[in-house]
Amino acid sequence: MVKEKIIAIDLGGTSAKLALVSTTGSIIYQWALPTDSSEEGLYIVPNLIQSIQSELKSRNESINEFLGIGFGTPGTVQENGSVVGAYNLGWQRAHPVKEYFDQAFDIPFYIENDANVAALGEQWQGAGKGFQDVGMLTLGTGVGGGIVMNGKIITGSTGSAGEIGHITVDFTDDFLCTCGKHGCLESVASATGILNLAHHLATYYEGNSRLYQATIKDERLNAKMIIDAAKNGDDFARVVFEHFCRYLGLACSHLANILNPSVIVIGGGVSQAGDFLLNQILSEFEHFVFAPIRNKTKIQLAQLGNDAGVIGAASLVIQ
Ligand SMILES: [Zn+2]
Repeated sequence: MVKEKIIAIDLGGTSAKLALVSTTGSIIYQWALPTDSSEEGLYIVPNLIQSIQSELKSRNESINEFLGIGFGTPGTVQENGSVVGAYNLGWQRAHPVKEYFDQAFDIPFYIENDANVAALGEQWQGAGKGFQDVGMLTLGTGVGGGIVMNGKIITGSTGSAGEIGHITVDFTDDFLCTCGKHGCLESVASATGILNLAHHLATYYEGNSRLYQATIKDERLNAKMIIDAAKNGDDFARVVFEHFCRYLGLACSHLANILNPSVIVIGGGVSQAGDFLLNQILSEFEHFVFAPIRNKTKIQLAQLGNDAGVIGAASLVIQ
């Protein structure tokens, strides 16, 4: 029997997306499961296993019809398939995910960090389709990063390759990152980073701006409000937005200079700002990047949205 289906899981802090994916990369069926991170995340994996078993049963499908299971997870994946440092799941200590799955199912199981998996998904079926060398930045609450070279995820010696969010892009001690370091890309170029930037730049700003007034009055702001205000010509919002894109363009130039990918994909919630964001990043990128690759590196918006995780997880199995 030729096996043409894969079980794919994209685990997040609030919910897990599960899907049955064809070996050609299309989603056949998908469902979601809330993530129960109580008791140090003890129930997460058993719940996923049980959910897969009951879905297959109700669909009248057997596990042996599947080529394998692919799994994208927050945190760092160790060589034995355990996950460590996934704080939003309660998995501070090593959690033996692969061991649980191997006990429950008699088919191959593959697990990778979620940002890497999203990069693989975009490389296989999204903005990087047709290219072997693709970098990806996911701009959400933090900045995730993943690098695919020769069609394969680069993991590095301890699984931390592609942590583009923690490239230092600011030399001052003004921006503290969640990792404890100062000046990481994530501290200035994520959804929370742009707020850090606004508050910092407000101390220097002199001018007429609605967004400036909102910032110094500590009104509740978010990334979308700042980018929309920049789009609508608010002077202070433009200043914040230009700094934000300068850091992103700088980080993309480092990625391009070191690895020379064909495409750098920009994804995550903040990337919904679309071409307005993309064009500004591109103009900063062109300023910083090594001249011979300036016009050879594409920067593109992600295409798969929330499906990048399950499609990338499925791709792990095919590899
Ligand atoms: Zn950091």
